[in-house]
Amino acid sequence: MSLWAITHVMTVRLYQRDPYLFEFESRVEEKDGDWIRLDGTAFYPGGGGQARDKGRIHGLDVSDVEERDGHIWHLVPGNKFVVGGMLWCSVDWESRYDVMRGHTAEHMLFGALQRIEPLLTLMKIDIAKELKRLTLTGPLTWDIVEEAERNVNSAISDNLEVQRFEMDREEAEESGVRAKLERIHGDTVDVVEIGDFDSAACGGIHVMETGEIGALLVERMTSAGNGSYHLDFLIGDEAVSKALQLSHMTIRTADHLGCAVDNVLRTVSNKKKDLEEASKALRSLSRHVLSDIDPVESNGIKVHAAIVPGIARKELIERADEIRNEGGIAVLISITDRADFVITASETTGLDCRVIVESCIKPVGGSGGGRRDFVQGGFPDVSRADSVLACILDALR
Ligand SMILES: [Zn+2]
Repeated sequence: MSLWAITHVMTVRLYQRDPYLFEFESRVEEKDGDWIRLDGTAFYPGGGGQARDKGRIHGLDVSDVEERDGHIWHLVPGNKFVVGGMLWCSVDWESRYDVMRGHTAEHMLFGALQRIEPLLTLMKIDIAKELKRLTLTGPLTWDIVEEAERNVNSAISDNLEVQRFEMDREEAEESGVRAKLERIHGDTVDVVEIGDFDSAACGGIHVMETGEIGALLVERMTSAGNGSYHLDFLIGDEAVSKALQLSHMTIRTADHLGCAVDNVLRTVSNKKKDLEEASKALRSLSRHVLSDIDPVESNGIKVHAAIVPGIARKELIERADEIRNEGGIAVLISITDRADFVITASETTGLDCRVIVESCIKPVGGSGGGRRDFVQGGFPDVSRADSVLACILDALR
């Protein structure tokens, strides 16, 4: 059989002849420790972003597959195989089929994205059962992603034929096949053509018809730094159930917000803007309230002491620092469902603020600490605020 006649040249790649072959018999050509080389294999050694195959050889787990000088080697720990022996091999089909479908989907997604935005470039591909990811640079927005996703799903429904053929390098250069020719050695290029939708150079494994992918959903876009993005996608049943889950989450979010589903994004944006404005107004109001506190003189030192309602600690600290820098003492207590305090004292006053925590805060079950000129903390019982303030003013006298 001619298939076996050429094995001395390089391992016969059964996965290229038949991507759907997952059980096969093969002969051991060479051994290197636990590594074995077969005369032909359906195990894909990984490459072009597609993960290597998992599986079993003669009942033992294949823990790694790699290509060396045109040969494909399989790591089968603990094997007692002998050169010349015939072995029954099986590729983990569930994982392989998922990855094949993911790989074809990846070609379609990138092709669709680049048709919409020609400035996008593909930096890296990761196609495995656990994660399917494109890393892209260039201008990318959710509008572009959504349009590309719609186009891919429509091409999946059209059940386009996927063909693989060899092309002369020059012909590939002229025909506009998507390829990084500088990375391809030799005179011919393996081309994967997906109907009239996409055509790209690729040595990976693909399905025969786009309908096998089922569906595609881009589930995440995250920055990868330097103007790059990770685009993670799901296919098949995983894509469908994720899409359903996300739809229901949106419907429930709309209920929660009291808006129409189509308006969720706009409503959240508006609420976010409202919240930012409210926070800004609250900050300015807080600053106003704190600067309005009239100081009382105690031993010739200006003491700014007050109990104020619900002012954020950040604002308390800001104002207390100002008062200290002006040579005074600040005792600011803010009440919410608990009491927060900030006490500062200029060095010239000779006061060690930590003493006050010990004498007035700890006795009411509170806690706090800091430096000599600055302490902060809180106490749980807000009804004690008046007596705490009285205690502090007493201590200052
Ligand atoms: Zn590919």
